[in-house]
Amino acid sequence: MDQTVSSLTPTGIVVNIQHFCTNDGPGIRTTVFLKGCGNRCKWCCNPETIHPKPELAYNRSKCIGAKACGRCLQAPAPEGAFYVIADTDDRVHVNWDLVSDAETEVASLCPSEAIHLFGEVMTVDQVLEEVEQDAAFYRESGGGITLSGGECLLQPAFSATLLMEAHRRGINTAIETAGNVPWAFMERVLPHVDTVLHDHKLTDPERHKKWIGVDNKRILANYKRAYEAYPDKQFIARTPVIPGVNDGEEHIRSVLAFIAPYKNVIDYQLLPYHRYGEAKYGFLGRVYELEDFERPTPESLARLQSIIDEAFGRTSPTGA
Ligand code: SF4
Repeated sequence: MDQTVSSLTPTGIVVNIQHFCTNDGPGIRTTVFLKGCGNRCKWCCNPETIHPKPELAYNRSKCIGAKACGRCLQAPAPEGAFYVIADTDDRVHVNWDLVSDAETEVASLCPSEAIHLFGEVMTVDQVLEEVEQDAAFYRESGGGITLSGGECLLQPAFSATLLMEAHRRGINTAIETAGNVPWAFMERVLPHVDTVLHDHKLTDPERHKKWIGVDNKRILANYKRAYEAYPDKQFIARTPVIPGVNDGEEHIRSVLAFIAPYKNVIDYQLLPYHRYGEAKYGFLGRVYELEDFERPTPESLARLQSIIDEAFGRTSPTGA
């Protein structure tokens, strides 16, 4: 380890490092999820990455009970933040209105990790030490590191330094971005990125605002500028397909028209909506708003995929 570089590099807030990912860029990849996002997509499957700081979460099924433990009830926190209800099982409840960032130390008291923290401050070297465990798989598959989130570009100094150092160690780099950041942040990180996976969630600015919390003007301006400023990078456009929100042909054709002039946009991928992140909303004391939403059908995905395949001049594997 280069001690001089290590002591000077910025730290980042990391939620998770996931190994053997196959949908986050070329080959087998190690995906590093960073905290903080400016969007509020109602279908977000990583709600623990939205808030920029480490935050407390609680999985009640893991609590071993107030009688057997009860450490959180003695913790330095506002009265009533953690409590038990008489005449029920004695596992603890959390009053989320009373829990704040200041209580994050309570997580260290909980022996069963029922109370835990999403988000850890890490150095570039700490992240790369874990990422490099998968180096053999990168060599075999053409994979590497992918920064995701949250919005990894909202930690520009950390992301840029991490990816620059990954490159120096011979590791291929990719990012997943939703593009809602100042251009200066993109400009700082993109020189160190090989593949940019970027979301086109909705075309209409008003509907974008309704479902994502912000309109898409800055996002589209950033993408256009990035395509033009970095002709040698690989860009892959992506749409999370949410039935009833953006699963119409109109959006797909609009994205294809947007990317058509740019030869460095090498693909457009569809990401079917899923609900794998739903339980995490409960762990964070939040409500998942899309309880009535279903996954897109194979037929609707095949129909949209055939439009993309035709635009890229290839035959759809579905034959559609
Ligand atoms: S510290 Fe953890 S295991 Fe112990 S009572 Fe509280 S939530 Fe349950």
